[in-house]
Amino acid sequence: MNRNYDLVICGGGVIGLSIAFETASHGWKVAVLEASQLGKAASWAGAGILPAGATMEPTDPLEQLRSLSHRLHGEWALRLRELTGIDTEYRRSGGLYIATTPAERATLAANRLWWTELGIAVEPWSKSHAVGKAPGLAPLVAREPEVEFWFVPDDCRIRNPRHIAALIAACRSLSVDFYEHSQAIGFDLAANRIESVRIKCEKDHLSNASLTSVRGDRFCIASGAWSGKLLSHLRIDTGILPVRGQMVLYRCEAPPFTMILNEGHRYLVPRDDGHVLAGSCEEEVGFECETTPEVISDLKSWAEGIWPELSRAPIASQWAGLRPGSFDSFPYLGILPSWENAYIASGHFRHGLHWSTATAVLMREVMMGEPTSMDLAPFRLQRGHTLSPHSISDPSL
Ligand SMILES: Cc1cc2nc3c(=O)[nH]c(=O)nc-3n(C[C@H](O)[C@H](O)[C@H](O)COP(=O)(O)OP(=O)(O)OC[C@H]3O[C@@H](n4cnc5c(N)ncnc54)[C@H](O)[C@@H]3O)c2cc1C
Repeated sequence: MNRNYDLVICGGGVIGLSIAFETASHGWKVAVLEASQLGKAASWAGAGILPAGATMEPTDPLEQLRSLSHRLHGEWALRLRELTGIDTEYRRSGGLYIATTPAERATLAANRLWWTELGIAVEPWSKSHAVGKAPGLAPLVAREPEVEFWFVPDDCRIRNPRHIAALIAACRSLSVDFYEHSQAIGFDLAANRIESVRIKCEKDHLSNASLTSVRGDRFCIASGAWSGKLLSHLRIDTGILPVRGQMVLYRCEAPPFTMILNEGHRYLVPRDDGHVLAGSCEEEVGFECETTPEVISDLKSWAEGIWPELSRAPIASQWAGLRPGSFDSFPYLGILPSWENAYIASGHFRHGLHWSTATAVLMREVMMGEPTSMDLAPFRLQRGHTLSPHSISDPSL
């Protein structure tokens, strides 16, 4: 089988699926190649936190991306529900930020200035107000007399496995072709164009066995933490590296709280059916994707210190995922240098679930030759190089 597509996407995580959904919605015939199972890597492993976006025009490129994504998530949740009937549990639950140490109080003070500049509402909560809203915090308040609470009402959450399921169903309704267990292993090239992507099918998945390559007019690399491996076939080095995060899932009878609870880089995220996620950590251990007893035990003691009732809830599951990290935490978005029809959307690190909506819209705009909703220069490959005013306007950079 060797069909020709408007767009072939390598990688079926939230980034690849969102781009497929967006471009197929605009009439393109799209294929998604997935080395394993659709949406089962970092995009499944994540927590689904969508931190509030700026309401004033931000100058910072990441804040622009966050703000656009944040607005689009509300719209996409409705569209996906209409198209597929799936409730992605997109909820404007708010996020409570907890500071128990001097360093955490200092960080939160800086964050508050930043939020205020961006027009993001933030409310100081007294200890009694916090305990009134979330009674399980009472032991923490008794133990930590200096504790501070700040509430950001516009923080949202999605249940990412459901969001992924909705994207897959929506793509199917738009006739996107999925090739699972089909790993992109190289490209057939002609001058500075990719003609087709070569595929290796997993032995046990012979439904695609006859497929050895897929032709397309354009190719987009959205292979998450593995993107660097694929890009090496195009002689491009991004330095995208896997950063492991671990997670523990508690099962409660009913949701013990509805908002996201944050302390430093760790968080508790409730699901509507009573499950509570506790995460996470950042570890550079290559492509090793197992949990470790030390980190899981550390996460549990932190979670149960914040909300002691969790110590009586059974652990439903625990897992690890590999975030695609970039050297400056900016994702790579746009055309690949020196290639006419090859694109990248990768390196979203801790924010890929959130930034997937804006990524999809921006990538569609670039690939369809439209003006982009925001400047993509800060997200180009080779941004470590100094740019002359001439080279900034060169779209191949
Ligand atoms: C513990 C944890 C918590 C997180 N929490 C949040 C959060 O709360 N909010 C948030 O916004 N983000 C969060 N993230 C980050 C977010 O999950 C990632 O940024 C996002 O999922 C990246 O999406 P992706 O599609 O680029 O990568 P992935 O989901 O990893 O998908 C890449 C896909 O490409 C496939 N692939 C790889 N190589 C090939 C190849 N050669 N050919 C074909 N397919 C290939 C892989 O099998 C995989 O399915 C979290 C991540 C982790 C690990």
